[in-house]
Amino acid sequence: MDMHFYLPTEIVMEDGCVLRNKDKFKLLGKKALIVTGRNSARICGGLDDVVCVLSKNAQKYAIYDKVMSNPTIECVYDGAQFARETGADFVIAIGGGSPMDAAKAIALLAVQDISREDLLKGNYTGEILPTAFIPTTAGTGSEVTQYSILTDNEARTKVNISSRALFPTLALLDGKYTAALSRDVAVNTAVDALTHGIESYLSLRSNKLTSTLALESISIISRCFEKLKNFTLSRGDRNQLLYASTLGGIVIAHTGTIAVHAMGYPLTYYKDIDHGRANGLLIGKYLRFVLRHEPDKIRDILIAMHLGSIDEFEVRLDGLLGEKESLTRDEIKKFCDISINTRNVSNTANPPGYEDLLEMYASALGGGIYQ
Ligand code: NAP
Ligand code: FE
Repeated sequence: MDMHFYLPTEIVMEDGCVLRNKDKFKLLGKKALIVTGRNSARICGGLDDVVCVLSKNAQKYAIYDKVMSNPTIECVYDGAQFARETGADFVIAIGGGSPMDAAKAIALLAVQDISREDLLKGNYTGEILPTAFIPTTAGTGSEVTQYSILTDNEARTKVNISSRALFPTLALLDGKYTAALSRDVAVNTAVDALTHGIESYLSLRSNKLTSTLALESISIISRCFEKLKNFTLSRGDRNQLLYASTLGGIVIAHTGTIAVHAMGYPLTYYKDIDHGRANGLLIGKYLRFVLRHEPDKIRDILIAMHLGSIDEFEVRLDGLLGEKESLTRDEIKKFCDISINTRNVSNTANPPGYEDLLEMYASALGGGIYQ
């Protein structure tokens, strides 16, 4: 059996884990740059807990709270400049995928002079500030991946900065930080995590261990569907979803994502559709495409979700996502042109071609224009 598994991030999951692990923060450095979005770190209580721990440790800190959703390359250069000015020697990210992804690039750019072009090409060394990540959404798994997904306004799409150097040093998981999520963000991020598990399971690079973890993640998220739909999640459910999303991160760290994420990025860039939702709108049609070539894998996924068919899968997902957006013929062509050239589209045993992408976009969001 061939297998390769690499996860340098220390993961701690327990109630109150930030306050209970102040010694782990002490090991990271003397002055923290706390990277967050505008509001969520304050609303969810994460910032208060981190400030409390740093104060007890007599560690200094500065706050960079300008990270927008789908952070731009400009934002991470700005954050890195701020890190240098404040003399931070470690980084703490509190937030969803956006602040976490930005924090990785900021920690890198704070210690290395890297041009935009070299950043995109991966021309830099492994030198980076130590990082502690506290996810406040249960979706991206960014707290355990080597990816920083940034918006590139020059290329007019999202780009993936990927390097082993970007793996967080420490990930602290506590479902209490996700309690203030709106229903939409809770649903969209859970759907993102679900697609990570499914895409990883279908990836050419999956192995026995990643497949086992992927199915575990898929199964947990599926069990929470009804409570997500009615938005009646308990603290225990939130912990389960956070655990499942971290599992999703662990598996995509090894396998990458596949065509669904590739097709989802233009929906986010051009149509402003949330990342997880964008994937959720497409995943059912993608399963139908894979069914033609790898029915056994689709069966495994459906069994993990206690579902009998892809029809049932789509009904359940539609129940979560509600009314769908629609695309024009020109938009579909443009999005196919963008996604066909991405690396992750070919990361499967039977990669979809241009016509397949066209069919998937059209059947998911085309309102029947290609039928
Ligand atoms: P997000 O963009 O980080 O956050 C979405 C919204 O939720 C923001 O308005 C945020 O507010 C708010 N929010 C976050 N936590 C909250 C909480 N606990 N309570 C109330 N509101 C909260 O969303 P995300 O889906 O987690 O991350 C999406 C990004 O991650 C995308 O850029 C995507 O490409 C990337 N991603 C990365 C990976 C990876 O492996 N690195 C994988 C998948 C996706 P604030 O603005 O105030 O924070
Ligand atoms: Fe994702």
